[in-house]
Amino acid sequence: MAALILVLGDQLTDTLPAIAHASKGSDTILMAEVREEATYVKHHKKKIAFLFSAMRHFAKHLKDHNYNVNYVHYDDEENKGSLLEQIKHCLTTQKFSEVKVTTPGEYRLLKSMEQWENVLGVPVTICEDNRFLASPDDFSAWAEGKKQLRMEFFYREMRRKHSVLMDGKNPIGGKWNYDAQNRESMRETHKVPKHTELKPDNMTQEVIELVKNHFDEHFGALDDFHFAVTREDALVVLNTFIDERLPNFGQYQDAMVEGKPWLYHSHIGFYLNCGLLTPKEAIQAAEQAYHAGQVPLNSAEGFIRQILGWREYVRGFYWHFMPGLKTDNYFDNRRALPSFFWNGQTNMNCMRQCIKETQQNAYAHHIQRLMVIGNFSLLTELSPEEVQAWYLLVYADAYEWVELPNVAGMILYSDGGNLASKPYVASGSYINKMSNYCKNCGYQVSKKTGPKACPFNYLYWHFIDKHKEKLSNNHRMAMIYKTYSRMKEENIEGMKKDATIFLSKLTKNEEV
Ligand SMILES: Cc1cc2nc3c(=O)[nH]c(=O)nc-3n(C[C@H](O)[C@H](O)[C@H](O)COP(=O)(O)OP(=O)(O)OC[C@H]3O[C@@H](n4cnc5c(N)ncnc54)[C@H](O)[C@@H]3O)c2cc1C
Ligand code: SF4
Repeated sequence: MAALILVLGDQLTDTLPAIAHASKGSDTILMAEVREEATYVKHHKKKIAFLFSAMRHFAKHLKDHNYNVNYVHYDDEENKGSLLEQIKHCLTTQKFSEVKVTTPGEYRLLKSMEQWENVLGVPVTICEDNRFLASPDDFSAWAEGKKQLRMEFFYREMRRKHSVLMDGKNPIGGKWNYDAQNRESMRETHKVPKHTELKPDNMTQEVIELVKNHFDEHFGALDDFHFAVTREDALVVLNTFIDERLPNFGQYQDAMVEGKPWLYHSHIGFYLNCGLLTPKEAIQAAEQAYHAGQVPLNSAEGFIRQILGWREYVRGFYWHFMPGLKTDNYFDNRRALPSFFWNGQTNMNCMRQCIKETQQNAYAHHIQRLMVIGNFSLLTELSPEEVQAWYLLVYADAYEWVELPNVAGMILYSDGGNLASKPYVASGSYINKMSNYCKNCGYQVSKKTGPKACPFNYLYWHFIDKHKEKLSNNHRMAMIYKTYSRMKEENIEGMKKDATIFLSKLTKNEEV
C-alpha cells in the first residue's frame, strides 16, 4: 500500500531513510510551502526566498529521479496553511495506508507530530534523521553522570569515534585544539578572496517575487540574493571555500572588519542545515585538504571542530535539555529588545555594523553573533524569549535546534551554565582588539565612564558587580573578580551609575 511521505524545508537530502526507501511507483512525497511554518516568527525575507527556492529545486530533483511528488506552492488554492491540514487534505483526495515523516529539528513540531496518528487515523512513522554524526541518544549517553558537559570533551570523543585528524589514538600534531593560534585581528587593507555568489535562476526569481508580494512586512533586504539553492551549487560554495579560504580560516576566525561581512568563513551553515550538504562531506573535504598539504593544521582543525564538535554538540544539547532550555532565565532578565535591533540605528558602531549586515545578508559570522550582539544582549539584560525569537528569524541558517543552545546557553547563560563554563561577556577592549569598529564610533573605547564612554565598558563591570553572588565562585571568573576586588569603590560606583542611565534609556527606547 502507498505511503505519504512528508519532507520539510530543512530535509532536502535524498539519502534520508524516508526518501531513500520510498517506493517510486506507489509512494508520494509531499512538500508544502505552508503559512504556519513561514510566519510563526517573521523570518528574514532572504531566508524564506532561500528555503522556498531550495525546496522547489529539490522537488524537481526528486521528480527527475522518478519520485511521485506533490508540491504545494505558497499561493496554490490547495494550500491549507499548515502541515497537518495539508496531510489531512491529501488523505481525503487519495488513499494512503500510512504517513511517514523524518524527525524534525524542532521540539514543538516533534511533539505535534507525535499526536498526528490520533488525529489522522492512519499510522504515522517518525523516521530517523541520519544526517548527524551523533544521535540525541549518543549525546545523552555521553552526558550521563557527568557534572559538566563541556564541548571540548565531547569533541575529543567524536574525533576518536569517527577517526578524524587522528594519528592512532592521538590527535594529529599532538594537540586536540589549536585555538591559541586562531585569534588574529585583520588589517583593513587585507584582501580577502571573494565569497561565492550564485546568480538566481528563473525558479529563484519567481520565489523572490512571491516573497516581495507576501512577506513585505518581514525583516531584512531581498535584493542581491546570491545563495546556492541546489546541492550542485552548494558543493561549489564548499569547494571554493576549501580551496581559497580554508587556509586562512583559523587565523582570522575571530576577526571583524567594517564593510567585510563574509571574511574567511565558509558560509555553508545555510546548506548544512537544510540538507543540501552533509556535515560528513564538509569534514572530509577539510581533512583531505590538510592531508594534501593545502591547509595548515590550525585551520583544518578549527573548521572541523565547528562542525564535528560544536554543531553536533549543540544538537545533542538541544534535545537533552528541551523543553526547559527555552524558558530558562538564570539572571531573570526581562528587558524588551530595543527597536534598533530591527533597523541598526544606534551610535554604537559595532552594533550598527552587525545589525545592518544581518539585515542585508541574513548572515553574520560567529564572533559578530557572539561577542557583539550576544554580548550586548546579556549585558543589557534583554529577555531571553525576545532574543531567541530575534536570532531565529534574522539568520538564514537558523533553526531552533541550533539557534536556541547558542542563544540560551552560549550568549545569555540563561541555562545557568550547562553549556558555557562562564558567561561570554567582554568590555569594549575585546571588540576593539578584534575589529576596526571603534574607529568610527560615536563612543570612545578608551573611556570607562561619562557620556562618551563605550557602553560595553561600564555595562561589563555593572554585570560583574550585579551578579557576584551567582558568579564569583566560578573558578573561571576568579581573575575577573580579583581585578574587581582591587578596583576603587568610586570607579565601580561611577560605572554602575552610567550603566543605570544607559539601561533606563534602553527601557524607554531612547537612542543610544
Ligand atoms: C547567538 C548565536 C546564534 C547562532 N545561531 C545559529 C543558527 O541559528 N544556526 C547555525 O547554524 N549556527 C548558529 N550559530 C553558530 C555560528 O555562528 C554559525 O553556524 C556560523 O556563523 C555560520 O556561518 P558559516 O557557515 O560561515 O560558519 P563557519 O564559521 O564557516 O563555521 C563552519 C560551520 O561550523 C558550524 N558551527 C560553527 N559554530 C557553531 C555553533 N556555535 N553551533 C553550531 N554550529 C556551529 C556551522 O555549521 C558552520 O556553518 C550561532 C551562534 C551564536 C553565537
Ligand atoms: S567604542 Fe564601544 S560601542 Fe563603539 S564600536 Fe567600540 S566597542 Fe562598540
